[in-house]
Amino acid sequence: MSQDTVYAIASGKGGVGKTTTTVNLGTALAQAGKRVAIVDTDLGMANLAGFVSLSPDSTTLHDVLAGDASVQEATYRVADNIVALPSNTELSKYAETSPEGLSEVVSELRSTFDFVFLDVGAGVSHETVLPLGLADAVIVVSTPEPAAVHDSKKTIDLTQQTGGKVAGLVLTRTRPETDVSYEEIAARLDLPLLGTIPEDPAARESVYAGTPLVVKNPRGPAAVAYRQLVSDLAETITGPSKTQQKSTESTEAEASDSPPETTRLSDDGQEAAHDDVSSAITEAETDR
Ligand code: ADP
Ligand code: MG
Repeated sequence: MSQDTVYAIASGKGGVGKTTTTVNLGTALAQAGKRVAIVDTDLGMANLAGFVSLSPDSTTLHDVLAGDASVQEATYRVADNIVALPSNTELSKYAETSPEGLSEVVSELRSTFDFVFLDVGAGVSHETVLPLGLADAVIVVSTPEPAAVHDSKKTIDLTQQTGGKVAGLVLTRTRPETDVSYEEIAARLDLPLLGTIPEDPAARESVYAGTPLVVKNPRGPAAVAYRQLVSDLAETITGPSKTQQKSTESTEAEASDSPPETTRLSDDGQEAAHDDVSSAITEAETDR
């Protein structure tokens, strides 16, 4: 896992905390000095922009995928060391967009950032499954509720069918006094338990404020848990910092508010073949 750079944050059920996890994992890593990009690949129900006070009316990932904008034009600096690629929230934009170009976007980001987090849409559809195969590893997010845990199984199966790898499980909105054993849930899914994030009213408040929990309420239980998750993950994902690698090339991107320079397309060209993705969806659907 040491060379893993691109993580998909995924779930079967919606509303379990994927976007919250993407934003706070990314921000906590950025606070620890890593260069991070967070990407809203939830093309149908995009909402990452609001979590970090960006306006989805400007250039978004939808424009990049439609061939109307470069990755840089859709990349916004949200804080030190962290940029976001938001998606558009309008249904009409979604109808015009195909997710096929995502692998190129990911390759470009991979070459520039220490970590890339793909906030994946819930459910089983082409644009949901594609990022699972593009990521180096998938972090499955679920609440402890049986319905959410049950749906996680589909995300795990789909990841495996697209040739992807699951890093482990993050349980969110936990309530230790009433929940069943978290280790048992992870064992049932045959995944390592990467971390648990407790129920915290500050999570909702941070969305309204458009400010990540780890910034707005850094001492609250969820923010503490997200930082703990980052430090636990860091033990297994400590790759070389691209900040250090690039320091002789350019300091301009770090110093300005403009999007960081994307220097080259990755030549390892990891791509999820369309056919693999489609057949994975078909298999998952017939499994039901
Ligand atoms: P998803 O991206 O999976 O749809 P979100 O991250 O948007 O989920 O979270 C769904 C809702 O749950 C939001 O209202 C969010 O504020 C809330 N939420 C997420 N994590 C927590 C938490 N740890 N405690 C309380 N509420 C949370
Ligand atoms: Mg979301």
